Amino acid sequence: MQQQLSEDQVTLLQGFLASVEQPGQCHRLIEEAAGRPPCPYCGCQRSHRCGQASGLQRYRCVLCRRSFNALTGTPLARLRLRDKWLHYLQCLIESIPVRSAASRVAVAKSTSFRWRHRFIAALLRAPRPQLSGIVEADETYLLESQKGSRHLDRPPRKRGGKASRRGISSELDCILVARDRNRQTCDFVTGRGPVSAGQLMKHLKPVLAPDVLLVTDAAKAYCAFAKQAGITHEAINVRAGIRARGALHIQGVNGWHSRFKTWLRRFNGVASRYLANYTGWLRVLDAAELTTPRQWLRIAVAPA
Ligand SMILES: [Zn+2]
Repeated sequence: MQQQLSEDQVTLLQGFLASVEQPGQCHRLIEEAAGRPPCPYCGCQRSHRCGQASGLQRYRCVLCRRSFNALTGTPLARLRLRDKWLHYLQCLIESIPVRSAASRVAVAKSTSFRWRHRFIAALLRAPRPQLSGIVEADETYLLESQKGSRHLDRPPRKRGGKASRRGISSELDCILVARDRNRQTCDFVTGRGPVSAGQLMKHLKPVLAPDVLLVTDAAKAYCAFAKQAGITHEAINVRAGIRARGALHIQGVNGWHSRFKTWLRRFNGVASRYLANYTGWLRVLDAAELTTPRQWLRIAVAPA
C-alpha cells in the first residue's frame, strides 16, 4: 500500500535530509569559502600547496615558511568532528540550548558549549555595518553574571538574584545598541555600569556615517558624545513620557532590546564574559540574512 506524506511531513523530511551530511561536504564548503587564504601569521598572499591534513588542504607560506590551512588563526581551528558542524549550525539557527543541541548532534555537552561560542566568535569577525540616515541608539542593562567562573570577584548571589543597589550600578552589564531605519544593527557590550561619552566615542563613532541624525533618550552621555564627535543629535525625553516626535523615536532599538531579553530567557542566565556573543548571535538571527547552515559556515570561515 502506498502512503502519501502530508505537506508538513514533506517539509520535515526535507529539513532532515538537508541536515544529513555527505562525507567531505563540510571540508568542501570550508575550502570554497576560504578561497586561497593569505598566511595567517605574516599576511603574505603567496603560498605553496603542501599536501592534506585532516581533510583540509595545507599551505606553506613562501615568506615565513610556516604551514597553515583554511581554518588556522580562526576560532574554528582545531575543532574536530567536522562532519557534525552543519548539523550543529542548524541548532544555532534554531537557538537550541546547549544540552539539547548536544543530544541532537550526538556530541558531549562541553563540546556543544565550546562549539556554540567558537562558531559565534567566527561569525562575528565580519566587519560591522555602517549605519546611515536616522540612527537610534540606546542601552539596556543586565545583571552581571559570573556563571561558570571558578573565582567570583564578589560575594555569591542567590539564584535569580537582584542587584543590591538601585539604579545603574556596577552590578549591571551595559548593552549598547544602535540601529538605523534600514534595520542595520550594531551591538556592543560596553562593560559594567552606565555608558559613558568615552565609550560611545570608542564604540559608536566608528559605525556612524558622517551625516547621520542620531536619536537617543536624554541621557547626558549621548549629548556629550554628539557634541564631541560633531554629530547631529536629537534627544527624546523618554522619562518625561514623550515617546516620539514625528519620525524621531527610539522604538526600533527598544524593540531589539526587548526581543533580546525574551530570546535570552531560554538559556537560563548567561555569563557576562559571553554576553557579546549572545547579542551578536541574536543580531545575526534577527537580520535574517543567513538562514541555512551552509551560509553560516561560509561567513564563519571567510577571511576576516
Ligand atoms: Zn607567512
